[in-house]
Amino acid sequence: MSDCVFCKIVARQIPATVVHEDEHTLAFMDIGQVNPGHVLVAVKKHADNVFALDDAQAAAVFRAAARVSRAIRDAFSPQGLSIYQANGSVAGQTVFHFHLHLLPRHEGDGMELTWPVKNPAREKLLEYAEKIKAKLG
Ligand code: 5GP
Ligand code: ZN
Repeated sequence: MSDCVFCKIVARQIPATVVHEDEHTLAFMDIGQVNPGHVLVAVKKHADNVFALDDAQAAAVFRAAARVSRAIRDAFSPQGLSIYQANGSVAGQTVFHFHLHLLPRHEGDGMELTWPVKNPAREKLLEYAEKIKAKLG
């Protein structure tokens, strides 16, 4: 996509600080660096979001994510690491080319995600699961 910033990074039309690359993915430093060592793993072939990934891309993204996460752990010794991935602006996506965040975490680092649990009855879980399973085929 000609106006996509991550396509331009993949094509080396604009600079990025790359840490890892394979057939399907490119991992590079997030320009915002929420914490030192914050890396993005993006697919090379444009996909807007998780819904647009093919199986090879999906597999490659998590293989790269696990590999780069281990390197971040060894390089920065964070207390933890969050993997964050947004699809759609309502979910917080701002660059509409699939990527996930590898974010080293430290006590009191200011990252927050509210998680408003509903704890519905088990019947509701079964109902929701049936809806999903019907679409999985
Ligand atoms: P999203 O909100 O879509 O999950 O995350 C997009 C991320 O891309 C942000 O964390 C932002 O800092 C990063 N970003 C946006 N533009 C650029 C860029 O040109 N280069 C790099 N390296 N990161 C970018
Ligand atoms: Zn793109």
